Amino acid sequence: MLISLKEALDYAERNDCGIAAINTPTYEMLLATVRVAERRNVPIIIQHAEVHEPINTIEDIGPVMVELAKRSTAPIVVHVDHGESFDYVRRGFDVGFNSAMIDASRMPYEDNLAVTQQVVALANEYGYGVEAELGVMPGREDGSQSTSSDPEMLYTDPEMAEAFVRDSGVTALACSFGTVHGLYKAEPHLNFELISELRERTGVPIVMHGGSGLSEAEYLECIKRGVRKINYYTYADKAALEAVQQLLEQTPDTYTFSPLTVAATRAVEANIEQLVDVLYRGAAS
Ligand SMILES: [Zn+2]
Repeated sequence: MLISLKEALDYAERNDCGIAAINTPTYEMLLATVRVAERRNVPIIIQHAEVHEPINTIEDIGPVMVELAKRSTAPIVVHVDHGESFDYVRRGFDVGFNSAMIDASRMPYEDNLAVTQQVVALANEYGYGVEAELGVMPGREDGSQSTSSDPEMLYTDPEMAEAFVRDSGVTALACSFGTVHGLYKAEPHLNFELISELRERTGVPIVMHGGSGLSEAEYLECIKRGVRKINYYTYADKAALEAVQQLLEQTPDTYTFSPLTVAATRAVEANIEQLVDVLYRGAAS
C-alpha cells in the first residue's frame, strides 16, 4: 500500500530504525526491493532520481513503481530522488509519486530556500512530504560557491539547517556529515556529533545520501543519532552486475537475455535483504 513520507519516518522514529530508500531505475531493482519489503514486512521507499532519466524516464518507470506500491502488502513511499527543479518534481507527482526530494543544494542558500519553498507549497496541496538538501556550504554574503575538496568545508552548518527547515517547512533534511555523495573524493569520515546536532536543531529526521558501503556499526550509529532515511543504490546495482557476469561464465551457451534479468533480480534481493537486516534492527528488538 502507498504510505506518506511522514508515515514512514514516524515508523522509523517509533522503532528506532532507518528506512531504506532504494533507487529503482530498472524493473529488476524495483521488483527486488518490493519483494524484500513484503518478505520482511517493513516500510520502504522506492525512488527515481532525475539523473537516471537515461535508463528510464519517470513517465515510463514511474507508473509501474506506483502500481506495484499500491498493490503491495508492504507500506511503500514512491519518491522523487534529487529532483533538480520544480518541474521535475511536478512530473513525478503527475504520474502518482507521493513524495519528493528537491535538490537545489548547489545553489546559493537563498535560491535553494526559494525553490524548496515552492516545492513544499505544491506538495502541501496534495499532503505529500518533501525532502530538501543543505550540504554544500554556500557562499554567504558574496553568493560564491565553495569549490573546496575538503569534506569538512561541505558539512551542513547546523545553524543554517535550523533556519532552512524552519523557513521551508520540509519533512526531512538531507545533510552532509561525511558520507561520500559523489561530490568530493576524500575518504569518508562520519561526523556523528554533527548528526546529533542537526537532528536536535532542525527537529526533523536526517537523510543520509551516499549510504552504500558503510559498515554495520556506522549505519547503526547514524540511526541512533537521528538518521531516518538511508539512500542506497550502488552496491545493489553492482550485485546485479556480478550475478549476471557469473551466470554468463557458468553458462557460456546462454543465447537469450531474459534469464539474466532473473539472476539480477535475485542478487539485488539478497543485497537489499542484508541492508534491511541492519537498518530495521531496532524494529525487530
Ligand atoms: Zn543523493
